[in-house]
Order: sequence, then structure tokens, then C-alpha cells
Amino acid sequence: MAKQIVVIGGGIIGLSSAWKLAEAGHSVTVLEKGKCGDGATTASLGALVPYNASREDSLPSKQRHSLWMYPQFVNDLHKLTGIDVGFKQTGRIQLIQNEHQRNKMQQDADIANEKWPFEGAETQKLLNDSELKKLEPEVEGTNFGALHCKATATFEPKRMIAALRSACMKMGVDIREHSPAVQLITQQNHVSQVHTATGLVSADFVALAAGAWSKNILPADHPLQQTGYVAPLKGQALEVATPHQLINHMVRGLGVYLIQVDDKKLLIGGTKEKDAGFDTSTTQKAEDDLLAKAEKLVPAIAECKVVRQWAGLRPYSEQKAPFIGWDSAFANLYHATGHAGIGLCLTPYTCQKVLEDIEHASHH
Ligand SMILES: Cc1cc2nc3c(=O)[nH]c(=O)nc-3n(C[C@H](O)[C@H](O)[C@H](O)COP(=O)(O)OP(=O)(O)OC[C@H]3O[C@@H](n4cnc5c(N)ncnc54)[C@H](O)[C@@H]3O)c2cc1C
Repeated sequence: MAKQIVVIGGGIIGLSSAWKLAEAGHSVTVLEKGKCGDGATTASLGALVPYNASREDSLPSKQRHSLWMYPQFVNDLHKLTGIDVGFKQTGRIQLIQNEHQRNKMQQDADIANEKWPFEGAETQKLLNDSELKKLEPEVEGTNFGALHCKATATFEPKRMIAALRSACMKMGVDIREHSPAVQLITQQNHVSQVHTATGLVSADFVALAAGAWSKNILPADHPLQQTGYVAPLKGQALEVATPHQLINHMVRGLGVYLIQVDDKKLLIGGTKEKDAGFDTSTTQKAEDDLLAKAEKLVPAIAECKVVRQWAGLRPYSEQKAPFIGWDSAFANLYHATGHAGIGLCLTPYTCQKVLEDIEHASHH
């Protein structure tokens, strides 16, 4: 039976969930405090990074599953909206800095190749410096080689938000921008309505996808307020103008990563500033740090002009995994938040899980 569902937050997680729920026949309202995508999503660099193969909980397998779902996900979006999100399976080159790291990467690569072959081939391969030079002539070798990971892709976050917004509109989602959720109106163990700046909205189910701001929406005495629920993790990034294409893959090393969007545009990300709260100002120090590291990886970047610097807030949680599932206090409240630095990658998985769990609950 069709349900009334309120999604709080119009980032990649909220919009993709709204699209899937509306496609399944539900009546969906998205509440967005500003403009869709203006949270972490359009501040991100659009990298779909592979799982950490040696981590033992279930997150890497969800991440891998989600990454594998991407080609279908962007195809479906394209078919519905005509918008090309710029999805490219670029692969990733990770520079190795020392012997210890090389051994660790070899172990990770072995696990990944054994468990998760990509398109029937080896997912990850260690390269020596001369193999690296062939793939990436502008990248400075380290004498320890690099890890080539094929299962890495990128897309353009602004185009993704445009496509998801359009998909939602086509499915009849009521998208309310500049309409923050102010408070959950609860009755015993249920959320009955969401109080917004423009009035009350009734809900059979509420999906909380407000990214770094999710905690602000929960009542002050909610049990999750006492835990490491979701907090902002500030990230600054840069765009530089390149004379021509400098790199062919996503390149990672020294704690930064580089993405060549087109011939003229290269992105450098990102800082991790834990104690910055909700501050989104940019700093000279971050620009200098990011540039210094990027220039070590690709010396030609020293000749490139910085054309943009920005900051965004990743929805980070101390449990180092997202909150995807039902709330412990309110039976019809669903969490889809806390995706930290891998939210883009986890999107197909998360929105599918939101749909399945809400569908399952609505049949009871
Ligand atoms: C510099 C940087 C680079 C990154 N690069 C990558 C990357 O390459 N790959 C990757 O996978 N991830 C990356 N990330 C992380 C990624 O951006 C996030 O994981 C992802 O965007 C989270 O999506 P979301 O929809 O949960 O959150 P958001 O995009 O933040 O969306 C939450 C939305 O909720 C809205 N909201 C907040 N409060 C309310 C309220 N009270 N009422 C209504 N609406 C509200 C906000 O305005 C916002 O639009 C990066 C992040 C940063 C900062």
C-alpha cells in the first residue's frame, strides 16, 4: 500500500532514496534546508573508491556491492532523465611510500583478487616504477611502485544531483527546497509529523538523510545524542587549471587524491579537519598543504593555477560506519546517514536498503 514518506535532506542519499521510494509507488516529500546537493554532495570530488579489502566487518562488502551496482544505477538515471552524470571507470593508482606499505598493499590486493574479481579479471595489481611510468608518465615514482586498482570510477557530483532531482520530479516527488525540518513531532514511539519552517508535514515513515546535520533533528533526549552518532568532518579541496590532461587515472598518495575531470580541470582533495564543527571557510594553510602534496605526486601541477577552493562537511561517525536502519526509539524513523568519505560510493546500496526496509515495514 502506498505510504506517505518524508525524506529529510536533499543530498545524494536523500534524493536517491526518494527516487526509489517514489518509483515503488509511495508518496514522497523531500525536505531540504537549502538547495539540493548543497551539503557534502556537491563539495565532494566524485570518486567511487574501492573497499578496504583487509577490514573484517561487513562495510567493505556493502561498498563493493554498491560499486558493482553503479553502471546500472547511472544507466537507469540516464534513461529516465536524459542526464549524463559523467560516469567513468578510470581506475586508481595509489603510490606506495615504503616497504612496509608495499607488503600491506600486496596482502590487500591478494584478498581483493581472490574474493572480488572485477569483470572476471584481477581487481588490483602491484606495479613497479617503470610499469607506473607507462601508465602515468607525469606521476613521480617513489621507488616502491604503486597499486593499480581497476575497480575505481568517478562522476560529476553536480550532474548527479541534477539527474537525481530530475528523476524525483518525474516520479512525482514533492521536493521542498529552503524548507528545513525543524523538529520531529512524536507520539509515544512514533514520529507522526515533521515540523518544517513552512508548516507541518504528516508521515507514515521518516527517512533521516540530513548528512552532517542529522543529529540536530533528533530530540535532545534521544539515546543517539549520547553516542558518537553523526558529526561534521570538514574537508577542503582545490580545482586547478591544467594545460592538457596530466593524469589518466585517479591518483592517490601522501593522503591526497587527484582526479582529472577533463583536459583542463584537475581536482585535489581533501583535508580532514575533525574539530572544525560546522565551519566551511577555506584557509591558505589547506591550499598550501594540498598543493605541496599534489606537486610531489605530479610535479607539473606546480605550473597550474588554482581556480577554486572550497570546503564541505562529511557526515562522520565515531563507529566508522554509516547508520542505515531503523531507529531504536521511534519505530517509523529510518536512518540513512553517517556515510563519511564514501557516501557517493555507497549510494546505490543505501537507497536500495532504504527501499527494501520501508517496503517490508509498510506491508505489516
Ligand atoms: C571535500 C570532500 C570530498 C569528498 N569526496 C568524496 C568522494 O570523492 N567520494 C565519496 O564517496 N564521498 C566523498 N565525500 C563524502 C560525500 O560527500 C558524502 O559521503 C556524501 O555526499 C553524503 O551524502 P548525504 O546525502 O548523506 O549528505 P549531504 O550531501 O550533506 O546531504 C544532506 C542534506 O541535508 C540537508 N539538511 C541538513 N539539515 C536539514 C534539515 N534540518 N532539514 C532539511 N534538510 C537538511 C543539507 O542541506 C544537505 O543538503 C567528500 C566530502 C568532502 C567534504
